[in-house]
Amino acid sequence: MNLAAPYKYPIMESFYTLQGEGFFQGRAAWFIRLGGCDVGCVWCDVKESWNADAFPKYEARNLLPPEEMPDNPENIIAVVTGGEPLMHDCTALTQVLKERGFQTNVETSGAYPVTGLWDWICVSPKKFKAPLPEVLQQANELKVVVFNKSDFDWAEQHAVQVPAHCKLYLQPEWSKKEEMTPLITEYIKKHPNWELSAQLHKYINVP
Ligand code: SF4
Repeated sequence: MNLAAPYKYPIMESFYTLQGEGFFQGRAAWFIRLGGCDVGCVWCDVKESWNADAFPKYEARNLLPPEEMPDNPENIIAVVTGGEPLMHDCTALTQVLKERGFQTNVETSGAYPVTGLWDWICVSPKKFKAPLPEVLQQANELKVVVFNKSDFDWAEQHAVQVPAHCKLYLQPEWSKKEEMTPLITEYIKKHPNWELSAQLHKYINVP
């Protein structure tokens, strides 16, 4: 008998929208944003997510009540993001999402070991807390935020640590997009193993 209390997840927000980034850009996506992050990116656009204690905590089975379930979850990706979602044990959360028919995707800095049953692991490494090599080796997608020119070298340093099948994306940091997007465009033309991730959701004004 398992007497351990079910894990409770701090939920900052949960919403249905389109994935705006990376490989699944444009796909219907149920986002679950878990509170808690100690990575400390200076340009973080969700700093309010950092303190996990600021958010109500729910057991995984109470996260998405059956009456709120979309009709066709098999066509919808569940994207667990943060914060840094892998600060939490995601085993129960991914079990419930899979039982309800979702594809399970996680967006992580890679700074914590992987827990949970993921169909897709997107690693976005951060300079402020290095990703674990074991997480990079499990990546389906590597997404590097480009804040300045030195980030291209930083991106390549991580590209050699992911599996050969891993998709590679360069994404301009939003406040620097006018300056960095042309540089990324030229870089990808010279290094076509990379692709652009442009944060489509911010252009079409959806969450
Ligand atoms: Fe913000 Fe993500 Fe960096 Fe954490 S890892 S500080 S949530 S950008």
